[in-house]
Amino acid sequence: MTATPFPRLKLTAGLSNFPSIGPRRQARLSRRGISTVLDLLYTFPFRYEDRRVRLSIGDLCEGKEQGFVATVRTIRKKVVPKLKAPLVEAILFDATGEIPVVWFGQEYLLKHLPEGSQAFFFGKVEYSTYSRSLVLRSPVVELVDPDLGLKKSYHIGRIVPVYREEEGLSTGVFRRVVGDVLRSLWGERFDPLPESVRREAGLMEWFPAIVEMHFPRDGDRPMEELLLPGYPPRDRIVFEEFFLLEYLMMLRRQGVHRSGRSWEPSPQAEDPLAEFERGIPFVLTGAQRRACREISEDFSKGHPMNRFLLGDVGSGKTLVAAYAMLQALRAGCQTAFLAPTEILAQQHARTLSRLFEANPEAGWAPVLLSHSVRGLDRRRFLAGIADGTHRVVVGTHAILEEGVIFSRLGLVVIDEQHKFGVAQRRALWSKAQNPDILVMTATPIPRSLALSYYGDLEISLLDELPPGRQPVVTRIVKKADEGFWRKTVGPVLARSEQVFVVLPLIEKSEKVDAKNAQEAHAALSALFPEVRVGLLTGRMDGAEKEQVMEAFRGGEIAILVATTVIEVGVDIPRASVMVVENAERFGLAQLHQLRGRIGRGGLPGTFYLVPGEAIGEEGRRRLEVLVEYADGFHVAEEDLRMRGPGEFMGVRQSGLPMFVVADLVRDREALILARTLAGTYVESSEGRLAAAWEQAGLEEFLRLRYREVDVWLSIR
Ligand code: ADP
Ligand code: MG
Repeated sequence: MTATPFPRLKLTAGLSNFPSIGPRRQARLSRRGISTVLDLLYTFPFRYEDRRVRLSIGDLCEGKEQGFVATVRTIRKKVVPKLKAPLVEAILFDATGEIPVVWFGQEYLLKHLPEGSQAFFFGKVEYSTYSRSLVLRSPVVELVDPDLGLKKSYHIGRIVPVYREEEGLSTGVFRRVVGDVLRSLWGERFDPLPESVRREAGLMEWFPAIVEMHFPRDGDRPMEELLLPGYPPRDRIVFEEFFLLEYLMMLRRQGVHRSGRSWEPSPQAEDPLAEFERGIPFVLTGAQRRACREISEDFSKGHPMNRFLLGDVGSGKTLVAAYAMLQALRAGCQTAFLAPTEILAQQHARTLSRLFEANPEAGWAPVLLSHSVRGLDRRRFLAGIADGTHRVVVGTHAILEEGVIFSRLGLVVIDEQHKFGVAQRRALWSKAQNPDILVMTATPIPRSLALSYYGDLEISLLDELPPGRQPVVTRIVKKADEGFWRKTVGPVLARSEQVFVVLPLIEKSEKVDAKNAQEAHAALSALFPEVRVGLLTGRMDGAEKEQVMEAFRGGEIAILVATTVIEVGVDIPRASVMVVENAERFGLAQLHQLRGRIGRGGLPGTFYLVPGEAIGEEGRRRLEVLVEYADGFHVAEEDLRMRGPGEFMGVRQSGLPMFVVADLVRDREALILARTLAGTYVESSEGRLAAAWEQAGLEEFLRLRYREVDVWLSIR
């Protein structure tokens, strides 16, 4: 292999160096986030137009957009009293015939396109009943430069790219700018993909692929297929995007592997898993047991654990987390359990204190740290955490504050990791030296997402629910009127089961047309005077929320009207019905998570979705996914297909790069291949000098493409 130097200067060059880019255009491009050559190269068209000249005037037919080259026979202005602007009319001819053409209000054409000039025309051909002939309406025009001929034009005689028009940059301008930039790189042989990888995957080289993504070569593919798997330049760029992300994930993984463990499991006579099982009131599922064993193995390795516990709602993730915590506690470490909401933190603290009750060692009683803990309590907790008296700290974002100092933090469990942003995660790592990390999500995420955006984590899969779960039926209801409430909720209350009612808003809003919790609370209280109706919203403080939840848990409250503060993890065995109003306002994963709140205590459940009137076709289809699939992994796949990864499980908040071309659903095979090849590449290049040089180019490219690389590498 001959070494191709990394064309750093060419790729990082500012765009003002190009004659077609003046200060105005430069400013507009930079507002779209395009300031270097590389940025521009990776701004791809969203469709293509076939402007190859294969037709003559004699071939034109009615009703389609067509392109041809012709000469102007006559051109003139025509003022029509009814029209605001004058028409420009011309007659075009070639060897096969002639055709009239009309433009509205483009008077400059009289000068631009004098009689006798040759140009390319592209536009819709219609039949005019007035002139009883075919006529071309408002076509795009591009003069044929007599010196260059057709071949050199960006806009005609070829398949042309169509770019998104934004910030006052027309697609024509964009095309010219991209064309000029591509010319400046002509013949470039550099490739960010290692040669061995590119060959193995059977992909095009970098520069030809970039060129043909913008200006496809002649071929017989229909234009739509240039946007789909199977078009070689696209396949190449898609693979490259996946490979770069996977490589980044490998670097993150290496970072973890290179740091030492901060603690080692204490030697034990008995199998720790058997011991753990004796202390809990159920038998672990096979999947839970497998996950616990995987965690134990991590603890015996030389580097910290970085594991992702992936399981459906109700698969029993908390118990697995507790097992991990127990091992760290036995080894003398402190553990932290982070939850996104106070209600959930309270529940986890309660669960853990029950579990660790059997081991009444000093300091194992969980302390709960949230923003509602203030004053003397808070000071006492902080002192105890700092001197190591408190060994189990459960809490919300409050744990991340500066004043919270641990004496020896060995394990961090994060429930719903995606609710914690980059800065917050960084704050957490600053509190410990290479802690073990176990992250969990509230609902499953699709496998392709796990393999890409969470690709640096080891995955434990809980693909089995504990026995005795009752099925939950999902129904879409037209309207939740009085009749609905009496018919569906009445009998449930009569059986002294409980009901959740979920609304998108706390109170009436001028801006948002959706139902609110306060009004629903009042209405249901009036409708069911014989029972207590509770209200739970995010605006209440921690103690108030806890009181309401306690009353609901104890059965004093029969109907709980709430916003999505109850979304996560809340465990109420006698709740068998949930009604979600304005269901179209919630994400599928969120709804699935809500659904997981019922059918937990051996009672079959019903989950009613009440969409608002404005729900469209698309919205209804989305909700039907929930009717059709009970399994969270399926729901997640469908959600990803419909919304894309950005909206999913905090991927956008993670700040990780978004794919420009690659599609996690369509291009899944390419993702798997990229992941495999990134793994073997990193392994095989270890310690090889030539490879180090190649890797340096790859990493530099990664940094140019994504300026945040160092941030992503510095956090876990
Ligand atoms: P999630 O995975 O959604 O966080 P949880 O950890 O909250 O699920 O567990 C859901 C419920 O299942 C809890 O009430 C928990 O006590 C119960 N549970 C967990 N594991 C088992 C098991 N192996 N057998 C029976 N019940 C279990
Ligand atoms: Mg949970």
